Amino acid sequence: MSNRGGYSGRFAPSPTGPLHAGSLVAALAGWLDARAHAGQWLVRIEDVDTPRCIPGASQTILAQLAACGLEPDAPVVYQSQRSAFYGQALDALIAAGLAYPCACTRQDIALALAASGTPRQRTGELVYPGTCRGGLHGRPARAWRLLTAESEQIMPVVQVMSGVQAIESIASALQTTSPVVAWHDRRLGPQSQDVGREVGDFVLRRADGLWAYQLAVVVDDAAQGVTHVVRGKDLADNTARQIVLQRALGLPQPLYLHTPLVLGSNGEKLSKQNDAQALDVSNPLTVLREAGAVLGITVRADTPGDWLALAVKQWRLQLMHTQPA
Ligand SMILES: [Zn+2]
Repeated sequence: MSNRGGYSGRFAPSPTGPLHAGSLVAALAGWLDARAHAGQWLVRIEDVDTPRCIPGASQTILAQLAACGLEPDAPVVYQSQRSAFYGQALDALIAAGLAYPCACTRQDIALALAASGTPRQRTGELVYPGTCRGGLHGRPARAWRLLTAESEQIMPVVQVMSGVQAIESIASALQTTSPVVAWHDRRLGPQSQDVGREVGDFVLRRADGLWAYQLAVVVDDAAQGVTHVVRGKDLADNTARQIVLQRALGLPQPLYLHTPLVLGSNGEKLSKQNDAQALDVSNPLTVLREAGAVLGITVRADTPGDWLALAVKQWRLQLMHTQPA
């Protein structure tokens, strides 16, 4: 997978349904950004969460993109065919002392949080309290987790539950991670997240044996030489975890741009989960204009090809005005 012009971007949809108006905005932004940088634009189908995938959806997505003139510059990559690479990454993290098995069910985690008096919860997800950092104590392993940076609330739990040896190995491993991850989003500006405190040791391989989204994305972005990640703002919250994983695996960190979301008539973001309508690409020029409007693209043309060519020029001008060269 070459890296023409030094820039590689990607659009990485999950085949859980056809594209909707919101997902096309992210695809268009990534395509324009790649063209404006004279780089390549890749498409990766993120089908690791196989129970959620819908047969035929990836073909539908690719056909929708093609109808809008958004064609990838290299063969499409399917995450479902890349398990071996995710396994290698997990093995490397285990060897580095940065991943450990976890025996907890959701209920175990909820009980541990309640018992510690801090039912920490974040966007509906429980913050893992670090229960298995000190070992499984005979319980069967279910998932694998990344050892993230320390937070004061977690350390006492570890000290109670584990021996001196475990503490020492954890302490040395933690030196490779940093408590607060800071990065610059090309649209949103400076961002930061304390992953250890706000997320906890997150899952790399799930209890059902499936690879976690974060691990697959980080491994694939590196394998595809992705230099610029352009995606919807709804995915911005994953960035810190992905940077933590990049650092742990010694992989380069791409630049990030999170695009505006398209809101439905109810004011909520469009998503497959809230039954956003499949994008009707029978009139691609209209589709492109509407997606472009969300991105501040105001060009007028009579064909999709002409519209895209003008849009690239406007995107390039916007880059010159918003970013240092
Ligand atoms: Zn656990």
